[in-house]
Amino acid sequence: MPAARLGKSDSDTQNSDRSHGRTAAKVSDYFGCNVFGQETMKLLLPKDTYKHVQEVIHRGTPLDLDAANAVASAMKTWAMSKGATHYCHWFQPMTGVTAEKHDSFIDLAEGGKAIEAFTGKQLVQQEPDASSFPSGGLRTTFEARGYTAWDPTSPAFILETPGGSTLCIPTVFISYTGESLDTKTPLLRSIEALNKAALDILGYFKADATKVFSTVGAEQEYFLIDEGYYEGRPDLMLCGRTLFGAPSPKGQQLEDHYFGSIRERVFTFMTDAEKELYKLGVPIKTRHNEVAPNQFECAPVFEEANVATDHNQLVMDIMRRVAARHGLAALFYEKPFAGVNGSGKHINWSLGTDTGKNLLSPGKTPQENLQFLIFLVATIKAVHDRSRILRAAIASSGNDHRLGANEAPPAIISVFLGAQLTRVLEDLEKGVTTKGTEPEWISIGIDKIPPILKDNTDRNRTSPFAFTGNKFEFRAVGSSFNIGAPIALLNAIVADALVQTKKDIDKLLKTKKTFKDAALEVLRRYYKDSKAVCFEGNNYSAQWEAEAAKRNLSNVKTTPEALDGLVRKDSLALFSRLGVLSETEARSRQHIQLEKYAKQIDIEAKLVIEMVMTHYVPAAAAYQKEFSATLRGVAEVLPGQTDALKIQGEILSRVTGLAAQAITAVEEIKKALVSAEKIEEAREKALAYCHKVRPLFDPVREAVDGLEGLVPDSLWPLPKYREMLFRI
Ligand code: ADP
Ligand code: MG
Repeated sequence: MPAARLGKSDSDTQNSDRSHGRTAAKVSDYFGCNVFGQETMKLLLPKDTYKHVQEVIHRGTPLDLDAANAVASAMKTWAMSKGATHYCHWFQPMTGVTAEKHDSFIDLAEGGKAIEAFTGKQLVQQEPDASSFPSGGLRTTFEARGYTAWDPTSPAFILETPGGSTLCIPTVFISYTGESLDTKTPLLRSIEALNKAALDILGYFKADATKVFSTVGAEQEYFLIDEGYYEGRPDLMLCGRTLFGAPSPKGQQLEDHYFGSIRERVFTFMTDAEKELYKLGVPIKTRHNEVAPNQFECAPVFEEANVATDHNQLVMDIMRRVAARHGLAALFYEKPFAGVNGSGKHINWSLGTDTGKNLLSPGKTPQENLQFLIFLVATIKAVHDRSRILRAAIASSGNDHRLGANEAPPAIISVFLGAQLTRVLEDLEKGVTTKGTEPEWISIGIDKIPPILKDNTDRNRTSPFAFTGNKFEFRAVGSSFNIGAPIALLNAIVADALVQTKKDIDKLLKTKKTFKDAALEVLRRYYKDSKAVCFEGNNYSAQWEAEAAKRNLSNVKTTPEALDGLVRKDSLALFSRLGVLSETEARSRQHIQLEKYAKQIDIEAKLVIEMVMTHYVPAAAAYQKEFSATLRGVAEVLPGQTDALKIQGEILSRVTGLAAQAITAVEEIKKALVSAEKIEEAREKALAYCHKVRPLFDPVREAVDGLEGLVPDSLWPLPKYREMLFRI
């Protein structure tokens, strides 16, 4: 495609780059400088107010209005000193992205004089019109009221943009009737449910922890392409993925991109984005090239789940903004390019205590090991019993391209433990003394529990849910997801398994068993009943699919069916007994996702039609015109060359055939759309888009990608894979 379309050149972006990392101060000098965190509060709030707010944050006690006023006033002073003119309640509706409505600090005093004001009431609650956010039937436009309410457990921050600075206050978003309209509320509820269930278990061990929380470190994969290419691809702009594109002769087969040296333009972008994120207190730690060309990854130091969720939203937001400053587009879609790896978000997840312990760390002493084994086995049980909830947690039209494709975990949910832990659990189940070679194993079943080393796990990159030393890595989450939703569901199912564990142990304790015997008996039973979900082999293989079917593990390949996991009877009962989601809220979430799915495929279908008719067929026609004129001319000048001309003319007939194939295939999509659009019921509609509309994209793409290999480069209207994936 013509080079004129390209974004800024390297030198352009470097010259215009205001915040080149090279002269920057030490990160620790400015880390969190735009966050209204604990230290700032301590500095700016009266002592009593500070103490009260800390109680609110850490103990969930109610906030009194005087304190709210004091916090608001301190926040305003602080934010204005940093150049903020506006504030907003920053929330996470079920669109997957964040939402914000800015209000100026300006108010009018007597005599029309402008003053800056910000009250406790404005800090604590706002009433944005909820009618234009997806609610899955939770409210209709005539009951449009929704409230955002301050979530003091995630700190407020200042978003700096070239146009100005805004104080952002993390909030939950609920309807007039108290139902959650966001992903944050269920997350907070799940954190509380897990806290309670885990503390109950810790009670057996007389641990001094008073709080347990889920810890999360989300590895973020993404693509970067030149903005000029991005803007030349309506499919990337509207759908997030390319609907067409012949494979580049060079893709990822040389395996030369993963961990390769980072191109300077990309490096400059990364350091710039990191700098913005550091100011916001996001502890980005790792950056590297990923497997596919122009694919990258960053990962933060793990944090408490609520803050980690907000921070991951900021990572995506800041990267998009900073990329634009560098003439680049950051792509978070799960599968922007066919034929090369897609992007995921690996959620590293564990349980931490306020005393600094990691409950999934195997520990050194037998007592700690038993505690560890309870949390480990409860998690395995949770994944086994509730695999459909986890499958629903990762369902989206983008992730459908990834789950089960060759580089991503399959749609079958399984747990990888590693050889050592598998052996520990097998021993536990049998209750026998097993002696290994290196290191030596002593059975759990008799009277001792073996030491379990931390770095015990081998790596299995194919597992959707892998134990990695002292945490689980939930690898099947899509790269564009708001991680709050999958974490909430994961927290919920583990909390529920822990509650059950406590009940079962307590039952045995009533029979005068010792705690250890009771716990081991329960764990033995759980492992036996759940071990079908444990798999150590290659999750990408066809054998695993067959084996998983034998083990009765579910294998739901597409989103509309996967979402059933949210509303099965047992799922609804689980959510409601933990107070994480009411039945109405769970159903509304399924509904929203189904609608979103149908709409996304609908947009893709309409764009396929448009691109074929307005880009590809005209390109083919231009070539047909040019080529047929050439052939006619040659025949006139060289009348003896009939055979040679016939061979060349073959190309023309192939172009003609492929253009016709594309047009015919598009007609099929149009017909399928007419039927799909008529369907009212959300699940039926999504199913129609999934199984009747989407498969029809394939023959169109085949024809268009075939044309791409025949039509001259100079006439091809859109950037090609080999350009988008390699030039940067
Ligand atoms: P890997 O070898 O998988 O890259 P890392 O140690 O680099 O492992 O960790 C990857 C991610 O896991 C990082 O974001 C890291 O902060 C996070 N992580 C480490 N420990 C924990 C934990 N206890 N809980 C949650 N996340 C964690
Ligand atoms: Mg990784």
